[in-house]
Amino acid sequence: MILEDTRLMKELKERDSLFYSAILGVYTEIRPLLDQRIAQVFPTYTQHDSGHSIRIIEHMSQIVNDISNLNDLEIAILVYSAMLHDIGMAANQEEITEIENGTLIYNGLNFNAILNKFNQDRILAMQEYIRIVHAERSANYIKENLSKRFVIPEMPLVSFGDTLALICEAHTKEIVWVTGNLKDRDVKGTFEINPQFCALVLRLADILDFDSSRTPPKLYTALAISGYSKEEWLQHFSISNQNKIVQGSSGEKVIEFHGSCSDSVIHRKILGYLDWVNKEIEYASELTKNFYDKHRLSFYHKVSNFINSDKYSIVDMKFQVNYKNIINLLMGEALYGNKELGVRELLQNALDACEVKKEMYVGNADLSIYEEYNAKIFIVLDKANKVVIIKDNGIGMNLPIIKNYFLEVGASYYNSDEYVLSNYKYIPIGNYGIGFLSSFMLSDKVKVRTKHFNAEMLYEVDISKDDDFVSIKEVQEPNFAGTEIILNYDQFFEVWEDKEKLKEFIEKEFLADGIQIAIIDKEKQGESIKIYNPNNLLTDSSLIDLSPYLNGVIVKIELSSSSVFQEYLNDIKFYGEPFLFDGKELVQIDEYDELIPLVNYLRDDKLGIIDFAIIESSSDLDEISSIMDSDDDVEDLYREKYDPVDISLITVPELIEIPPRGLIETEEIVDGLTFERFEEEYSHDNSSGTFFGFVSKSFFSKDELNKHIQYSNGHTYLQSNPPFTEKSKLFIRGVFVKDFNFSIMNAIQGVSIKNFLINVVNKEIKPNVSRNDINNDDERLLRNSIYQALLVHFLENLKDPIESHVLKAFMKKFHNYKNTLLNEKYKRHFISEV
Ligand code: ADP
Repeated sequence: MILEDTRLMKELKERDSLFYSAILGVYTEIRPLLDQRIAQVFPTYTQHDSGHSIRIIEHMSQIVNDISNLNDLEIAILVYSAMLHDIGMAANQEEITEIENGTLIYNGLNFNAILNKFNQDRILAMQEYIRIVHAERSANYIKENLSKRFVIPEMPLVSFGDTLALICEAHTKEIVWVTGNLKDRDVKGTFEINPQFCALVLRLADILDFDSSRTPPKLYTALAISGYSKEEWLQHFSISNQNKIVQGSSGEKVIEFHGSCSDSVIHRKILGYLDWVNKEIEYASELTKNFYDKHRLSFYHKVSNFINSDKYSIVDMKFQVNYKNIINLLMGEALYGNKELGVRELLQNALDACEVKKEMYVGNADLSIYEEYNAKIFIVLDKANKVVIIKDNGIGMNLPIIKNYFLEVGASYYNSDEYVLSNYKYIPIGNYGIGFLSSFMLSDKVKVRTKHFNAEMLYEVDISKDDDFVSIKEVQEPNFAGTEIILNYDQFFEVWEDKEKLKEFIEKEFLADGIQIAIIDKEKQGESIKIYNPNNLLTDSSLIDLSPYLNGVIVKIELSSSSVFQEYLNDIKFYGEPFLFDGKELVQIDEYDELIPLVNYLRDDKLGIIDFAIIESSSDLDEISSIMDSDDDVEDLYREKYDPVDISLITVPELIEIPPRGLIETEEIVDGLTFERFEEEYSHDNSSGTFFGFVSKSFFSKDELNKHIQYSNGHTYLQSNPPFTEKSKLFIRGVFVKDFNFSIMNAIQGVSIKNFLINVVNKEIKPNVSRNDINNDDERLLRNSIYQALLVHFLENLKDPIESHVLKAFMKKFHNYKNTLLNEKYKRHFISEV
C-alpha cells in the first residue's frame, strides 16, 4: 500500500484539502530517513520504515469513530504523527559517536550504564538508548527541521509544529504526561483541534502494528534481554490477522489478535504486551469519555486473545496478590520487630530525596547559580493540630512517580531505568519499595503532601491503613518544596515515649552527613532540637582510614594494639608468669635483661607452652577434690576460690614431647625441672599435684628469618574485649544495621581493635528487608575485605624490607580471597606467584 491509498489521505484528497499536497511534500523528504537510516543504525530491529507509518495510518482510520467528522487539520496531524513519531530513531553516525562517548546526552541517560545492562553489546545498547529517547528526538527533529512546513494553508504565521512535536513525543510517555502536556482543545486558524485525542489515536495505532514481522521495540528489548534473537522470534511466533479492530456483537469495537506461538518464554512476553494494550484501551476510553462524540474512543475493555500455543493449554494465568494480607505482612512489627522503625524508614526516604536533589544542584550550574541548596529534614511535633509531620525539602514526587513507585508496593523509583540509567552517583538507601508502608506502624491514617522539584502542582495523597484506595488532590502552593508525611500525633506518641527518645534513636540510626535534621516542637514555640551525629568516628582524623583500599566501604578503625611481628620471647603475651627452661637454667622472662630469640624455641612454626598453677596449700585442693567429681570442676572451683598464680613455661621443644595435662602429681615438670626451682619466687605445695595445661601458639615464618607473625588458627574476634566497645557498628548507606562483631580466620594475634565504624556504600551489599542484618556471604565478604585492607595498611607503613617480605608472604598464604571488595590495585598483594 502507498500513502495516497490510505483512507485518511483519500479523505483529504476528496475534500480538496491543501494539506494533501503539503503532506506528500514532507513524506518525500523524510521517507529515505525512515526507510534507510533507521535500518542502517539498527540492523536487528524490526521495521520502523514507511510501511510501519502507512499501517498506522490505516489503523487510525479504524480507531476513530468516523473520519468524516474530523476536520482537515486533525486528519493532517494524525497522518503527520504516524509518519514522524519514530523519526528520532534515525540517528546519523555522528550522533551515534557522540552518544557513545558521552558528549550527546538525553535526559541524563548514561550510555555506559546501558552498555553494562547489555553485557557490552554496543549494537543492542545503542538500540536501547535510542529506543528510550527516540520520542524526544522525534519532537526535536520536527521543531528543528520541519517547523516551517507545519503551518495552516494560506496562514503562514499560524504554526501547529509544536503541537505535532508534543503529540509525537507523547507516544512513549506515561498517560499522565499526555494530560499534563497536551490540551484537550486548541484553535489553529479556522480549525479547532483536540491534541490529547490525536496523541491517544497515535499511541493505539502504533501498538496495534504488531505482528510476527514487526516486534514492537519494547517487546523486542524484553526478548533481547532474555537472550532471544530476532530469528528465534520469527520462528516461534506468527500472527494471522492483519485487521485487528472488529465490530463486536454488542456494537462496541473489539481489538483482537489471532496467531500461534510455540515458545513459552516468547508467549509470556506477548501476554505481557497484550496487557499493555489493555491498559492503553482503558486510558483511551477513560480519557475521552467526556470528549465530543467524534473524539470519543470506546473499545471493549479487553483485547481478544486468540494466540494459541501448541504446547500449553492455559497460558494466561498469573500470580495475583491478596492486597490486605500482603500489606499487613509488609507494614508491621512482624517484619520490623519494632514500631519505632517506622520513623527510620520515613527518614531514609527523606534522606534519599535530599541527597538526589543535592547532587542535582552540584551538577547543574543553572540551578546552583540562583540559590544554594541546603538539605533539611524536620520532624514537626504539632500537638494542637494533632499531627506529627516528617518534612523534607528533597526532590519530591510528581504524579507518575506517585503512581508508579510510591503507590506501587515493591517498586522503588531508585531501581527504575530513569534513575539507574542516569548519571547519578548517589546510591540511595531505598531499594525494596516497601519502606513507606511501615509508616502505618505509627499512624492509621497518613497524608502525604509532595511537590516535584520541577513541577507546578503539589499533590495531596490521603492514605488509610485498611484501604487500598487513596484520594489525591491537586493544590497550588508555589512556595512549597519537597515532601511532608503527616501522621496522627496521639498514635505517634503511643510508639514514642517522648521526644528525647526520638532524638536518641535518630542519632543512633543515622550517619546523615551534611543534612540538617531537627525535631521542632510547636508547643514549645517551635523549639528546635538539632540532631547531632554522635557516630563521629568517621570524621576523626586520628583513626586509621581503610576506605582508600576498598571499593565503596568506608572504614575507620582504632587499634588497641598493633604488633604484627614477634622476634623475641620477651615480646609475647602469655597466660601466666613466663619462665624459660633451656634444659639447665631457669629464667624468669620478664625479669631477664637479654632478648631471647623466638626462633630457637619454635618447632614446625609452633611454640609449645606448659601452663600450671601455683598451689599454696594442698589441703585447700584436697577439700575441693573430696566434694567434686571431675577434675575440671575441681579446677574451676579452686580457681574461683583461691585465684592462684599461673606459670607459663617455655622450654626447648625436645623436652615437651608429651606435655602434662590435667590435675596431676609429678615431681618434675619436664625432665630436669622440679617445682623447687620456683621456690625463690613462689611457694608451691606439691603434695596433691597441680593443674597443667598445654597450649601451642602458631607463628608464620619465612625463609628462616627471625621475624614471625603470630596468628590464630580458628576464628578470632578482633575487638579486644567482648562484648565490644559501643562503637563497633555497621552502617549501610548511612543507616545503622547492627553491631558488628569482627571475627576472622588466621588473624594476627598482636593486632586488636578498640573501635571501628563501617559504612558500606557499595551497591552490591544490601541489608535484609528489615534492615537489621546482612546475609552471611556478604558479611564474610566484608570482614575478609576489611582485614585485607588492614593488612595492606600495615604493609604500606612498614619500613623494614625484611618485615615487608614476611608480611607479604603471610598475606598471600592466609588472606588470599577470590571474592573481595579490595581496590583492584591492591589485589596484587594477595595473589600468589605460582
Ligand atoms: P523505597 O524507599 O525502597 O524506594 P518506599 O516504599 O519507601 O520504597 O518509597 C517508594 C518510592 O516513593 C521511592 O522510591 C520514592 O520514589 C518515593 N518517595 C517516598 N518518600 C519520598 C520522599 N520523602 N521524597 C520523595 N520521594 C519519596
